[in-house]
Amino acid sequence: MERINVNLGKRSYPIFIEHGILGNISKIVREYFSGRKILVITDSNVVDLYARQLAAGLENEGFQTFVEVVPAGEASKSLARAEDLYNAALDHRLDRKSAILALGGGVVGDLAGFIAATYMRGIGFIQVPTTLLAQVDSSVGGKVAVNLPRAKNIVGAFYQPKLVIIDPDTLLSLPEREFAEGLVEVIKYGIIRDEDFFRWLEQYIKNLRQNTADLVHAIKRSCEIKAAIVSEDEAECGLRMVLNFGHTVGHALEAVFGYGTLLHGEAVALGMVFEAKIALNRGLIDERTFLRIEGLVKSAVPKDLPHRPDPDSLIESMSFDKKNLNEKITFILPERLGRVGVYSDITAKEILQAIAP
Ligand code: NAD
Ligand code: ZN
Repeated sequence: MERINVNLGKRSYPIFIEHGILGNISKIVREYFSGRKILVITDSNVVDLYARQLAAGLENEGFQTFVEVVPAGEASKSLARAEDLYNAALDHRLDRKSAILALGGGVVGDLAGFIAATYMRGIGFIQVPTTLLAQVDSSVGGKVAVNLPRAKNIVGAFYQPKLVIIDPDTLLSLPEREFAEGLVEVIKYGIIRDEDFFRWLEQYIKNLRQNTADLVHAIKRSCEIKAAIVSEDEAECGLRMVLNFGHTVGHALEAVFGYGTLLHGEAVALGMVFEAKIALNRGLIDERTFLRIEGLVKSAVPKDLPHRPDPDSLIESMSFDKKNLNEKITFILPERLGRVGVYSDITAKEILQAIAP
């Protein structure tokens, strides 16, 4: 079993990765959580795949287990759904010694984490991510949130889980398109922090899904990199911003084409290539590095823009990115493979140049 630590002083927690771990989860949960009641929050796709097995295992270990199911999809990250879940927690008489267990993708993780952070001012939280994106990204780092109709992730908190349990076997049932989304974030870690990992991915990415040992390695290395960054900068005051590589343009493309046209990971894949192009145009990276980034991204997500985005909408949607300090357009740009820098002086012209055909 692989184990990674997220070091945050008293709030440090482990991430366990092992294939088949889901069938054997209750002993680990017992080790990290001394309460009796666990509310499992999952979605309508995952419930039939994994929830029953998980709940049975927990019951066998002596936990009183309840399962609440939300409809699959981003729309469940809402205050309305959160209110339903608070009421369910009350109905089940969850108290401060109880825990919430998130079983599902990033939607379930963000929503369940938001409940755990706020119900009775915070109760125990366990993450069991079942999408590749959730395993390498959203389950690590403690950002939890729900959306408002006008803004994503706008109501939330930093709230760390007590442990994260990752079973790569759950990815066997994940649709190809969702798997590819997770790969985009995996590639991102190579570009921002680890040239060797990038090179390894160039060699092994094609058969990652079929090769459990390689898949475990990719998840582990990704979690290690995210954990190291979060350990240094939990509240995104500085370093954690490097995780936004590809996301400034990515978020704008998602918004301009309408959420759902491009999946988040597909938009970020294009965003990483465009942002690498800005770096190329600025002379930060050379042509060969750009082509390697483009090549690896396109081998995972062979997506193109649905059509040329309207330049004004694109620029407008970027300056409304809440992560931008003082409304300036801040970009994370590659300086070589494995290293990025923060650039706050990017002009609209450079962005349009980069996405020009
Ligand atoms: P998701 O949770 O919607 O899951 C994608 C789809 O896969 C859903 O239909 C789900 O039901 C299904 N699914 C989940 N596990 C499955 C499995 N094992 N087999 C078959 N189907 C399965 O989406 P996601 O991509 O996992 O996460 C996206 C969300 O994560 C967004 O809301 C985003 O804002 C959030 N996010 C949060 C952070 C963070 O730091 N907290 C980081 C990145 C993304
Ligand atoms: Zn992302």
